[in-house]
Amino acid sequence: MRRLPGPSRPLVLCYHAITDGWTHALATRPDVLERQIRALLRRGFRPARAEDVVGGHGGLLHVTFDDAFRSVRGGLAIARQFGLPVTVFACTAYAENGRPLDVPELELDVSRHAGELETMTWDDLRALAAEGVEVGSHTVTHAHLPALSDVELERELGDSRLRLEDELGRPCRFFAYPYGEEDLRVQEAARVAGYDAAFALPGPSGPVKPFALRRVGVYRRELALPLPVNAVCANVTYGNGVLVVTLPISDQTSPARLTLERVTPTHGEHKGNAGHLATCVQT
Ligand SMILES: [Zn+2]
Repeated sequence: MRRLPGPSRPLVLCYHAITDGWTHALATRPDVLERQIRALLRRGFRPARAEDVVGGHGGLLHVTFDDAFRSVRGGLAIARQFGLPVTVFACTAYAENGRPLDVPELELDVSRHAGELETMTWDDLRALAAEGVEVGSHTVTHAHLPALSDVELERELGDSRLRLEDELGRPCRFFAYPYGEEDLRVQEAARVAGYDAAFALPGPSGPVKPFALRRVGVYRRELALPLPVNAVCANVTYGNGVLVVTLPISDQTSPARLTLERVTPTHGEHKGNAGHLATCVQT
Protein backbone atom coordinates (compact mmCIF):
# COMPACT_ATOMS: atom_id res chain seq x y z
CA MET A 1 0.00 0.00 0.00
CA ARG A 2 1.37 3.38 -0.97
CA ARG A 3 2.05 5.85 1.77
CA LEU A 4 -0.33 8.80 1.67
CA PRO A 5 1.13 12.25 2.19
CA GLY A 6 0.47 13.78 5.56
CA PRO A 7 -1.68 16.84 5.90
CA SER A 8 1.29 19.12 5.20
CA ARG A 9 1.18 18.31 1.47
CA PRO A 10 -1.68 18.23 -1.05
CA LEU A 11 -2.79 14.85 -2.33
CA VAL A 12 -3.21 14.56 -6.11
CA LEU A 13 -4.51 11.26 -7.47
CA CYS A 14 -3.76 10.06 -11.00
CA TYR A 15 -6.36 7.83 -12.65
CA HIS A 16 -6.66 6.64 -16.24
CA ALA A 17 -9.74 4.74 -17.52
CA ILE A 18 -12.88 4.50 -15.35
CA THR A 19 -14.75 1.37 -16.35
CA ASP A 20 -16.25 -1.94 -15.27
CA GLY A 21 -15.46 -3.56 -18.60
CA TRP A 22 -11.67 -3.78 -18.68
CA THR A 23 -9.53 -5.61 -16.12
CA HIS A 24 -6.31 -3.72 -16.63
CA ALA A 25 -3.99 -1.82 -14.28
CA LEU A 26 -5.08 1.44 -15.96
CA ALA A 27 -8.80 0.74 -15.44
CA THR A 28 -10.43 1.71 -12.15
CA ARG A 29 -14.02 0.59 -11.49
CA PRO A 30 -16.47 3.51 -10.98
CA ASP A 31 -17.59 2.16 -7.57
CA VAL A 32 -13.95 1.97 -6.45
CA LEU A 33 -13.31 5.56 -7.54
CA GLU A 34 -16.38 6.67 -5.59
CA ARG A 35 -15.28 4.79 -2.45
CA GLN A 36 -11.77 6.20 -2.64
CA ILE A 37 -12.94 9.79 -3.00
CA ARG A 38 -15.50 9.39 -0.22
CA ALA A 39 -12.93 7.87 2.14
CA LEU A 40 -10.40 10.65 1.54
CA LEU A 41 -12.96 13.41 2.06
CA ARG A 42 -14.12 11.71 5.26
CA ARG A 43 -10.51 11.66 6.37
CA GLY A 44 -10.47 15.43 6.14
CA PHE A 45 -8.99 16.19 2.71
CA ARG A 46 -10.63 19.22 1.09
CA PRO A 47 -11.55 19.43 -2.62
CA ALA A 48 -9.13 21.70 -4.49
CA ARG A 49 -8.42 22.92 -8.03
CA ALA A 50 -5.15 22.23 -9.84
CA GLU A 51 -3.97 25.78 -9.23
CA ASP A 52 -4.60 25.38 -5.50
CA VAL A 53 -2.33 22.36 -5.14
CA VAL A 54 0.52 24.19 -6.89
CA GLY A 55 0.69 26.35 -3.77
CA GLY A 56 1.48 23.19 -1.81
CA HIS A 57 -0.95 23.72 1.03
CA GLY A 58 -1.73 20.66 3.07
CA GLY A 59 -4.96 18.74 3.32
CA LEU A 60 -6.04 19.46 -0.27
CA LEU A 61 -7.31 16.79 -2.65
CA HIS A 62 -7.28 17.02 -6.44
CA VAL A 63 -8.07 14.28 -8.96
CA THR A 64 -6.52 13.97 -12.41
CA PHE A 65 -7.24 11.65 -15.33
CA ASP A 66 -4.39 11.04 -17.78
CA ASP A 67 -4.88 10.19 -21.49
CA ALA A 68 -8.46 11.58 -21.70
CA PHE A 69 -10.01 8.16 -22.20
CA ARG A 70 -13.68 8.44 -23.19
CA SER A 71 -14.64 6.25 -20.22
CA VAL A 72 -13.55 9.01 -17.86
CA ARG A 73 -16.89 10.78 -18.32
CA GLY A 74 -18.42 8.52 -15.65
CA GLY A 75 -15.59 9.39 -13.30
CA LEU A 76 -16.16 13.10 -13.82
CA ALA A 77 -19.80 12.68 -12.81
CA ILE A 78 -18.71 10.93 -9.60
CA ALA A 79 -16.21 13.68 -8.75
CA ARG A 80 -18.89 16.30 -9.42
CA GLN A 81 -21.20 14.65 -6.83
CA PHE A 82 -18.53 15.36 -4.23
CA GLY A 83 -17.80 18.89 -5.49
CA LEU A 84 -14.29 17.72 -6.33
CA PRO A 85 -12.51 19.64 -9.13
CA VAL A 86 -10.65 17.49 -11.66
CA THR A 87 -8.12 17.89 -14.44
CA VAL A 88 -8.10 15.78 -17.61
CA PHE A 89 -4.80 15.55 -19.51
CA ALA A 90 -5.16 14.98 -23.27
CA CYS A 91 -2.75 14.15 -26.09
CA THR A 92 -3.54 16.45 -28.99
CA ALA A 93 -2.79 14.01 -31.82
CA TYR A 94 -5.42 11.65 -30.37
CA ALA A 95 -8.03 14.40 -29.88
CA GLU A 96 -8.09 14.94 -33.65
CA ASN A 97 -10.17 11.78 -34.13
CA GLY A 98 -10.57 10.15 -30.68
CA ARG A 99 -8.74 7.01 -31.73
CA PRO A 100 -7.62 4.44 -29.15
CA LEU A 101 -4.36 5.24 -27.32
CA ASP A 102 -2.27 3.01 -29.56
CA VAL A 103 1.13 3.47 -27.91
CA PRO A 104 3.44 0.42 -28.22
CA GLU A 105 2.98 -0.42 -24.51
CA LEU A 106 -0.76 -0.96 -25.09
CA GLU A 107 -0.54 -2.72 -28.47
CA LEU A 108 -2.13 -5.97 -27.26
CA ASP A 109 -4.85 -4.12 -25.39
CA VAL A 110 -5.75 -2.03 -28.43
CA SER A 111 -6.35 -5.20 -30.44
CA ARG A 112 -8.57 -6.68 -27.70
CA HIS A 113 -10.19 -3.67 -26.00
CA ALA A 114 -10.12 -0.87 -28.57
CA GLY A 115 -13.34 0.66 -27.20
CA GLU A 116 -11.90 1.01 -23.70
CA LEU A 117 -8.88 2.84 -25.09
CA GLU A 118 -10.81 5.35 -27.19
CA THR A 119 -9.93 8.92 -26.36
CA MET A 120 -11.89 12.15 -26.27
CA THR A 121 -12.22 14.26 -29.42
CA TRP A 122 -11.97 18.03 -29.52
CA ASP A 123 -15.78 18.24 -29.23
CA ASP A 124 -15.67 16.04 -26.11
CA LEU A 125 -12.89 18.14 -24.58
CA ARG A 126 -14.69 21.39 -25.40
CA ALA A 127 -17.76 20.02 -23.60
CA LEU A 128 -15.64 19.22 -20.53
CA ALA A 129 -14.08 22.68 -20.51
CA ALA A 130 -17.56 24.22 -20.72
CA GLU A 131 -18.53 22.21 -17.62
CA GLY A 132 -15.61 23.70 -15.72
CA VAL A 133 -13.22 20.75 -16.02
CA GLU A 134 -9.58 21.82 -16.30
CA VAL A 135 -8.11 20.36 -19.50
CA GLY A 136 -4.33 20.11 -19.56
CA SER A 137 -1.76 18.80 -22.01
CA HIS A 138 -0.29 15.29 -22.01
CA THR A 139 1.94 16.03 -25.07
CA VAL A 140 1.09 15.56 -28.75
CA THR A 141 1.81 11.83 -29.10
CA HIS A 142 2.28 10.43 -25.54
CA ALA A 143 6.04 10.36 -26.01
CA HIS A 144 8.80 9.22 -23.66
CA LEU A 145 10.05 12.75 -23.02
CA PRO A 146 13.52 12.17 -21.48
CA ALA A 147 14.53 10.28 -24.65
CA LEU A 148 13.68 13.16 -27.02
CA SER A 149 15.99 15.77 -28.53
CA ASP A 150 15.49 19.38 -27.45
CA VAL A 151 13.63 20.15 -30.68
CA GLU A 152 11.29 17.17 -30.32
CA LEU A 153 10.72 18.01 -26.68
CA GLU A 154 9.74 21.56 -27.55
CA ARG A 155 7.28 20.26 -30.14
CA GLU A 156 5.61 17.79 -27.75
CA LEU A 157 5.31 20.40 -24.99
CA GLY A 158 4.80 23.64 -26.91
CA ASP A 159 2.70 22.51 -29.89
CA SER A 160 0.29 20.59 -27.67
CA ARG A 161 -0.25 23.61 -25.43
CA LEU A 162 -0.95 25.92 -28.39
CA ARG A 163 -3.25 23.38 -30.04
CA LEU A 164 -5.27 22.93 -26.84
CA GLU A 165 -5.57 26.69 -26.45
CA ASP A 166 -6.72 27.08 -30.07
CA GLU A 167 -9.31 24.33 -29.83
CA LEU A 168 -10.66 25.13 -26.36
CA GLY A 169 -10.33 28.89 -26.51
CA ARG A 170 -8.77 29.17 -23.06
CA PRO A 171 -5.31 29.03 -21.50
CA CYS A 172 -3.74 25.59 -21.14
CA ARG A 173 -1.93 25.99 -17.84
CA PHE A 174 -1.12 22.47 -16.72
CA PHE A 175 0.84 19.54 -18.09
CA ALA A 176 1.26 15.87 -17.09
CA TYR A 177 4.38 13.89 -18.03
CA PRO A 178 3.48 10.72 -19.99
CA TYR A 179 4.48 7.57 -18.04
CA GLY A 180 5.47 10.00 -15.25
CA GLU A 181 8.85 10.28 -16.97
CA GLU A 182 10.71 13.51 -16.30
CA ASP A 183 14.13 14.86 -15.40
CA LEU A 184 15.49 18.35 -14.85
CA ARG A 185 15.81 19.03 -18.61
CA VAL A 186 12.20 17.98 -19.23
CA GLN A 187 10.95 20.01 -16.26
CA GLU A 188 12.73 23.09 -17.57
CA ALA A 189 11.30 22.52 -21.06
CA ALA A 190 7.80 22.42 -19.54
CA ARG A 191 8.43 25.73 -17.83
CA VAL A 192 9.81 27.30 -21.02
CA ALA A 193 6.82 25.99 -23.01
CA GLY A 194 4.62 28.30 -20.94
CA TYR A 195 2.86 26.03 -18.46
CA ASP A 196 2.14 27.17 -14.91
CA ALA A 197 2.92 23.73 -13.48
CA ALA A 198 3.45 20.08 -14.41
CA PHE A 199 2.30 16.89 -12.72
CA ALA A 200 4.57 13.90 -12.25
CA LEU A 201 4.24 10.55 -10.49
CA PRO A 202 5.92 9.55 -7.20
CA GLY A 203 9.52 10.64 -6.84
CA PRO A 204 11.93 12.03 -4.28
CA SER A 205 10.18 13.66 -1.37
CA GLY A 206 10.91 17.25 -0.50
CA PRO A 207 9.31 20.63 -0.95
CA VAL A 208 6.50 20.99 -3.50
CA LYS A 209 7.99 21.98 -6.90
CA PRO A 210 5.64 23.41 -9.56
CA PHE A 211 7.22 21.39 -12.38
CA ALA A 212 7.44 18.14 -10.44
CA LEU A 213 4.13 18.03 -8.61
CA ARG A 214 3.96 14.53 -7.19
CA ARG A 215 0.82 12.46 -7.70
CA VAL A 216 -0.26 9.10 -6.39
CA GLY A 217 -1.02 6.76 -9.29
CA VAL A 218 -4.12 4.64 -8.69
CA TYR A 219 -3.97 1.30 -10.48
CA ARG A 220 -6.20 -1.73 -10.53
CA ARG A 221 -4.55 -4.63 -8.78
CA GLU A 222 -6.27 -7.96 -8.87
CA LEU A 223 -4.91 -11.34 -8.08
CA ALA A 224 -6.24 -14.56 -9.61
CA LEU A 225 -5.72 -17.34 -7.08
CA PRO A 226 -5.20 -20.87 -8.43
CA LEU A 227 -6.73 -22.50 -5.31
CA PRO A 228 -9.84 -21.68 -3.22
CA VAL A 229 -9.16 -19.74 -0.03
CA ASN A 230 -11.18 -18.79 3.02
CA ALA A 231 -11.03 -15.01 3.13
CA VAL A 232 -12.66 -14.79 6.56
CA CYS A 233 -9.56 -16.41 8.02
CA ALA A 234 -7.18 -13.97 6.35
CA ASN A 235 -4.44 -12.54 8.46
CA VAL A 236 -2.91 -9.17 7.78
CA THR A 237 0.48 -7.98 8.94
CA TYR A 238 2.07 -4.64 8.26
CA GLY A 239 5.58 -3.89 9.35
CA ASN A 240 8.80 -2.38 8.03
CA GLY A 241 6.98 -1.02 4.98
CA VAL A 242 5.72 -4.43 3.87
CA LEU A 243 2.09 -5.52 3.84
CA VAL A 244 1.49 -9.27 4.04
CA VAL A 245 -1.92 -10.87 3.61
CA THR A 246 -2.17 -14.60 4.22
CA LEU A 247 -5.22 -16.54 3.07
CA PRO A 248 -5.57 -20.21 4.11
CA ILE A 249 -6.32 -22.67 1.31
CA SER A 250 -9.74 -24.10 2.10
CA ASP A 251 -12.80 -25.63 0.50
CA GLN A 252 -14.85 -23.21 2.59
CA THR A 253 -14.56 -20.21 0.31
CA SER A 254 -16.25 -17.66 2.55
CA PRO A 255 -16.25 -14.29 0.85
CA ALA A 256 -15.08 -11.29 2.84
CA ARG A 257 -14.08 -7.75 2.12
CA LEU A 258 -10.64 -6.80 3.28
CA THR A 259 -10.47 -3.15 4.26
CA LEU A 260 -7.10 -1.52 4.77
CA GLU A 261 -7.24 1.72 6.63
CA ARG A 262 -4.63 4.00 8.06
CA VAL A 263 -5.40 4.70 11.70
CA THR A 264 -2.67 6.77 13.27
CA PRO A 265 0.92 7.40 12.29
CA THR A 266 2.95 5.04 14.42
CA HIS A 267 5.84 2.65 14.31
CA GLY A 268 5.65 -1.07 14.64
CA GLU A 269 3.30 -3.66 13.33
CA HIS A 270 -0.40 -4.28 13.47
CA LYS A 271 -2.42 -7.37 12.80
CA GLY A 272 -6.03 -7.71 11.79
CA ASN A 273 -8.43 -10.17 10.26
CA ALA A 274 -10.56 -9.89 7.17
CA GLY A 275 -14.18 -10.14 8.04
CA HIS A 276 -13.42 -7.74 10.84
CA LEU A 277 -11.73 -4.41 10.35
CA ALA A 278 -8.19 -4.98 9.17
CA THR A 279 -5.86 -2.14 9.95
CA CYS A 280 -2.81 -1.08 8.06
CA VAL A 281 -0.65 1.29 10.03
CA GLN A 282 1.84 3.47 8.24
CA THR A 283 5.11 4.44 9.79
ZN1 LIG B 1 -0.57 8.87 -20.16
